[in-house]
Amino acid sequence: MRKKIVAGNWKMNKNLSETEVLLSELKTKLGASKEANIIVAPTFTNLYKATQDLKGSSITVAAQNMHQADNGAFTGEISADMLKNIGVETVILGHSERRAYFGETDALLADKVNTALKHGMKVIFCFGEELQDRKSNSHFSVVENQLKNVLFHIKEEHWKNIVLAYEPVWAIGTGETASPDQAQEMHAFIRNTIANAFTPSIADEVSILYGGSVKPNNAEEIFAKPDVDGGLIGGAALDASSFEAIANAI
Ligand code: PEP
Repeated sequence: MRKKIVAGNWKMNKNLSETEVLLSELKTKLGASKEANIIVAPTFTNLYKATQDLKGSSITVAAQNMHQADNGAFTGEISADMLKNIGVETVILGHSERRAYFGETDALLADKVNTALKHGMKVIFCFGEELQDRKSNSHFSVVENQLKNVLFHIKEEHWKNIVLAYEPVWAIGTGETASPDQAQEMHAFIRNTIANAFTPSIADEVSILYGGSVKPNNAEEIFAKPDVDGGLIGGAALDASSFEAIANAI
């Protein structure tokens, strides 16, 4: 049975005191959640605090990014070892904002994935087409290429540490959501692509999250689709009641 996951990407939001408040609310509301694995991804400066504050709950902490090198002269960067050393075992890689604003390419992301896996970390790998890709009906090939370029070289045994997050770029932070049928169609395509490149059982086991303007009022019908195993949530993850409602829609 593959895992159901609801993950909140807080992006560059919430200073330390705001983080403490949100963590405490989430711990009360979702700290004993059994239906889904709940993950929160605060900003780097608050990750350690999050790991401490969430002790005793089932909520785990992810980083929003990571450098591909083990260590060295990379001013301003954070390594896998630094994350693991403070109790962060999961990293989000490939978010469309990293690709668009920080020039992250598939080749770079393949390196980051390798480093994370080498350090025994779990990766939430984000990918998805842009609006023009969907308009020109090339969304399936764009998504297939992103998967191929970043993940097709990994060893079969590493798939247990991979979570996929399909996030159509046109639906992120825009209020525009893929319809439940559009999400299901793409998630089934992704699973089939993994089955062909690896094995049907790897494809069957991997959790595929949907991300893109998931809100309390649309989460249930998206999560009800058979190949949607949860969500990666941006804006609505910043409010404890909204995130709780989305998590409970699983
Ligand atoms: C995201 O940034 O991963 C995301 C899905 O954002 P939002 O929910 O705000 O669209």
